[in-house]
Amino acid sequence: MIPLHSFLEKLHHTYSALETGQVASYIPELAKANPDWFAISVVTTGGQVIEVGDYQQKFTIQSISKVFVYGMALEIHGRERLLEKVSVEPTGDPFNSLIRLDEDSHRPFNPMINAGAIATTSLLQGDGPTERLNQLLLMFERYVGHEVFIDMPTFISERVTGHRNRAMAHLMLNFGMIDKDIAAVLDLYFQQCAVMVTCHDLALMAATLANQGVNPITGVQAVSPDYIRDILSVMYTCGMYNFAGEWAYRVGIPAKSGVSGGILAVVPDQAGIAVFSPRLDSNGNSIRAIQVFQDLSREYGLHLFDLSMGRCVFSQALQSAG
Ligand code: GLU
Repeated sequence: MIPLHSFLEKLHHTYSALETGQVASYIPELAKANPDWFAISVVTTGGQVIEVGDYQQKFTIQSISKVFVYGMALEIHGRERLLEKVSVEPTGDPFNSLIRLDEDSHRPFNPMINAGAIATTSLLQGDGPTERLNQLLLMFERYVGHEVFIDMPTFISERVTGHRNRAMAHLMLNFGMIDKDIAAVLDLYFQQCAVMVTCHDLALMAATLANQGVNPITGVQAVSPDYIRDILSVMYTCGMYNFAGEWAYRVGIPAKSGVSGGILAVVPDQAGIAVFSPRLDSNGNSIRAIQVFQDLSREYGLHLFDLSMGRCVFSQALQSAG
């Protein structure tokens, strides 16, 4: 078995040469990302950190925020009430699909596509937009263990150009799927997407989910353990845009990607893993990150249903890294 740090270095070296794909540009500010940024971070549930590359580079979290806001909505409303508002069915459609709004049930299909995420954000509570934003930032801070900030240029950039998301919110208002002030809801959604993180932060956030909601470095309970299974189930079935099925098949652990180039994944009870590289494929997933995760899954038997290597290969690799 290759020690984890050496394997991460090897993957970083190998896939640095992979230069296919495009940095997202539909939000103009995202186009400013350096396409060569590349980082891999692992944080274990014991708080051990193994990482290579640009793991301190800041970028906006984008769609990965949907996972954590969903957790917040679960804590506020509970599983059954939230399910009445946002379903958990994968769509096989792109993240920004307008078509799949279930007009009969008045629910968007799942909280990982934009429609479902906007509906989920509309369910956050707080006295006014500032209070709701503060609650949201405090939630992220529990996961990352430090203060978090919104990248104003990205927020404004999306606010000015996010016509498709605005159209979605209007349609959902028309169908009675959301009932709040949609301008405020969209602002909060754009703000959650513009929260700045590093690859290290994402791995720690994933490790917190792997650790029953407890941040393994600070010991802070970021989310109730009651909802970890709900969050991971939705990540597993819907977290990777219309590559979710193939991801479940090839990599086999719950994950979420974002258009800024991050992917985080959870190895339950063991670790959080994050990869950041801004060049995307046509699904909106980071090309290098997909390769790295496929190799990691194969090398250490991470696939949840692959019992051929035994459950202990990855934990041995984590121990030998310490
Ligand atoms: N803020 C982006 C949007 O709503 C997030 C998309 C993504 O990362 O998938 O279009």
